[in-house]
Amino acid sequence: FSMDTSDSINLTPAQLEVGLINDTIDQSALNKLLTNNIHENENIDTLVQFFQHYIPGNRTMNEFIERIRHYNSAQICGLVWNANVIAYRCKTCSISPCMSICAQCFQNGNHEGHNFNMFKSQAGGACDCGDASVMHAFGFCCFHGENRPKTQMVPRELICCAELFVPHLLKVFIRALRMSAISGDIVTDEKLLEILNQLSNGGSAIQMYITHALTDKKLYEEFITDPSMVKLYQYEYLTAETAALPVTYFVDSLINDSTAHSLIPFDTSIRTMLDEIMMWCVTAGLPEELIRFLLSLLPDFNFKLLFTETFLRFYGVIAQSLIGESLAETSEIPSRLVHISVQLFSSNIIAEYAMKECHLIEVILSCIWHMFVPSVDHDKPDDDDDDENILKTHPLALTNDANTGMVVDVEHRLIVKNVYWPLLSDFVNILSQEKIAFAILENKRYLILWLRFLTLFQGMNVNERVLTQHVEYEPQAYMYAFTIELEISAAAMWCFVGHLKPNYSSEKLICIIKQIIDSINDWLRSLSFDSKLMDDWKLTFHLPLHRYLSVFAYNAIHQFNIDPSSFLPVNDQNTLLNLMFCPLRTICGYYEVLSSIWLRNGEQVTVQAKTYAKSAFSSSMHDADLFLLQLISCYVEPNLFIETFLKRFHVYSWLFHSKTASNLDSSQQISMLESALIALCAIVVFQPNLAVCETKHIRSEIVTTLAVSDRLYSEVEENVPDPSPLSTNRKGIEVILQQVSDFQTPSVELMGHLQQGKYTIKDTLFKTEYDPLHVLMRCTKRSQFQNSLERFTNYVKREGLFKSDYSIWPPFRIPSYDHQQMSNVQNSLRSGVLHHFLFLCLHAYLNDKSITENILYFTVYLLELSIINGDDSSPMAVDENSEDIAAFKTNNIFTNICIRVFVSLNPLKNEPETESIITLLLKILHKQRSNDFFDLITNIPPQKAANPKDISRIGDRFYFITNILSLSSQMNEQCRTTITQEIEKFKTQFYQQQPTNTKSTDLTAEQK
Ligand SMILES: [Zn+2]
Ligand SMILES: [Zn+2]
Ligand SMILES: [Zn+2]
Repeated sequence: FSMDTSDSINLTPAQLEVGLINDTIDQSALNKLLTNNIHENENIDTLVQFFQHYIPGNRTMNEFIERIRHYNSAQICGLVWNANVIAYRCKTCSISPCMSICAQCFQNGNHEGHNFNMFKSQAGGACDCGDASVMHAFGFCCFHGENRPKTQMVPRELICCAELFVPHLLKVFIRALRMSAISGDIVTDEKLLEILNQLSNGGSAIQMYITHALTDKKLYEEFITDPSMVKLYQYEYLTAETAALPVTYFVDSLINDSTAHSLIPFDTSIRTMLDEIMMWCVTAGLPEELIRFLLSLLPDFNFKLLFTETFLRFYGVIAQSLIGESLAETSEIPSRLVHISVQLFSSNIIAEYAMKECHLIEVILSCIWHMFVPSVDHDKPDDDDDDENILKTHPLALTNDANTGMVVDVEHRLIVKNVYWPLLSDFVNILSQEKIAFAILENKRYLILWLRFLTLFQGMNVNERVLTQHVEYEPQAYMYAFTIELEISAAAMWCFVGHLKPNYSSEKLICIIKQIIDSINDWLRSLSFDSKLMDDWKLTFHLPLHRYLSVFAYNAIHQFNIDPSSFLPVNDQNTLLNLMFCPLRTICGYYEVLSSIWLRNGEQVTVQAKTYAKSAFSSSMHDADLFLLQLISCYVEPNLFIETFLKRFHVYSWLFHSKTASNLDSSQQISMLESALIALCAIVVFQPNLAVCETKHIRSEIVTTLAVSDRLYSEVEENVPDPSPLSTNRKGIEVILQQVSDFQTPSVELMGHLQQGKYTIKDTLFKTEYDPLHVLMRCTKRSQFQNSLERFTNYVKREGLFKSDYSIWPPFRIPSYDHQQMSNVQNSLRSGVLHHFLFLCLHAYLNDKSITENILYFTVYLLELSIINGDDSSPMAVDENSEDIAAFKTNNIFTNICIRVFVSLNPLKNEPETESIITLLLKILHKQRSNDFFDLITNIPPQKAANPKDISRIGDRFYFITNILSLSSQMNEQCRTTITQEIEKFKTQFYQQQPTNTKSTDLTAEQK
């Protein structure tokens, strides 16, 4: 111990303790002690020895810590852990989804019957036990929270030396940090940090002296202005470092008056020891032990507020260092940043304080924005190459000039290395606080910036169809695009939507939705969008703005009963068509991929398509696109809608003009025809899952996944979309599983591996709830749909519900809409173009052997729906513009199924005979059952009328087609007459042909 030898009259800790208690200390001896051993001593080892010796007073450091811990009165546990430590999370007790508690507090608390789990902390964390803003008080352990045991005052003699030396210890530590600026390594002087951590472990009784010193402005002011201190503590390194700090500017649209016309930088001034330590911590890349020390002081609420304030002022520097670090192989900064911010922003009190007092929203939004759109600083030359730019001209743009829209390049290193993750994770994290989410939605500056940010991802990762040779290199960039959309855009969206409660203002919600529509229109303008000029063979799966529109609109309608005409431009057909263009293109592209049209682009396009429709993500992607189509279809003139739709699906010119679309072979065309039918059924019938956790939706998802096959619990969970990160309704799955399935108890397999139990769907649900269209929406493999159909058929046969030698058709359901508004999706069924399309499908089925029965049953289903929704009273004239294709001159299904037209519109073809939907249906029936056909149809039209919704959905081809004939005769007198006449005509014709029938006509050949 060297200082004793240098000066024999040094005070001992014991003398010091007595002197301090009795106020009899020799001031000059004390000053000498401080000067010799602290101020003028730069040797870390002797400094460490000195503080170890003097801070505890007349006892060892270990004894000191042991005793002082008895006086710990902290309400919050606050134990800090680093990565890979086991901690607990209890959903029953949590208020914030990020809540976590240490093992000790978990054991000392009572979580019996709670929904908790043990997890390995990835970014490190801290114990929230005792913090009522993060978890419910009933989950606190007996040592934390308001009802913790009371502690006594700390005896003077125990603490007086620590009180004296802690500020000096911090000064010395700061000097070490300053000097690390030349050594370049902050971690080498960990010995001082070890003492600090050791002291902090002593609990609140000692921590208060540390936090006071750290945040005392006067103390710091003296420290940096006293000339001797400035010299002895190497102040110059601090000034050099602060001068070199990177500057982050607020996005100017966020700041109140734009009159200033100059960028406003983040405030990185240093006013306390905490500020300075934070600055070194940030410039040194957030060293783990230093963070651990700072976080360990957070149970002190006032310190936590000040710490939050400082942290946010330096947030921009951290964000910049993330970009710098992205060149390094690996970086610990992201997880350490989150380690800090999670501790702060999962508390609603801290988060709201930070929002009101520390520009929390402006800071995070500015940092996120500048990560993708660097602020232009004209003084500095650009040190990055231009080809390094993370934004590129949008490949979907039709023009290319200075105003052309930009899109994120998903192959850029910042994206590939996921550099943006910690900032966006912070953003999504603060959105879990209701007040912050509303502040962003309701403040135009914030909302517009966020939408502008999403615009950068709008249409990212455009695939271009490869036609020549198979693509050699399969890019992985699509994964980054999906990660961004799901983890940033969608995660934030579900946070926002999750906060919308029934008492929320409809006017505000309408404003938000209109703002989203404006953003989409701005984006389209930036592409010089023109629906007629868009490339048919470019495909993106990423439309974050459209999905915001869809999900917000869905919730506005279903939760708030808002009339869509209050936000949609319902009278502007062209704008509506433009709004639906991209989602329609994406849905169509999805089916193109399934139809092998993108085969040469490699496996990766298939993976994209499957991810797009995957159950777990469907709410954020496929279902959102589909709902937007449904919504817009309610307002677009039906013929225009159907025509647009069919053109996009590449079946229009082929069917209507008997032309072959150049890019597709015949099997691809047939596959697209079937896809178009499926997508049309989906638009009219399917109810997408866009609400946050509705039991009804969860149930139908579970029934759907169980209809395909027996499932493990984990498979069920995986197949139930759960979009909201806020929802805690996961346990609802178990309740529903009990209602809809039987559990097969686990058995031991031969190899000795324990097999998990599976859930089997209850048989009767095939009759009542099994929805084949829902299965089609959720399964990208057709074999899964076939599986469900087989299980359904087995059930029908087993129960004897329908006797037939022919295949049982899928029991497509007659829809009942969960909101009155959505029944308007049936508008598109009142379209002469649609009826003509269905007519052509029937004709194609009859004449083209490669067209499958699937196409027939979708066609018949759409016909059935059209008839059920048939509006007898108001036949509408077809739009003049559509004249070239409209064989039917009305939109009235009852007229249209009766009328006989030439199949080909080409007058040169000289067709011998006209057909109608009715005659085609009769021919199709006859084709399958020529032997008993005439006996079977004598009952049509039937005698007694039944409500269409009560008609059984179990049957075969003959059953469903005759249903259509009966239905239409019941509903419309003209149909009844026409059907009777056509049957008679058919009979006559048939018996006339009988003698020549041996020559085997098409019909009978088919029958064999
Ligand atoms: Zn704890
Ligand atoms: Zn506790
Ligand atoms: Zn609990």
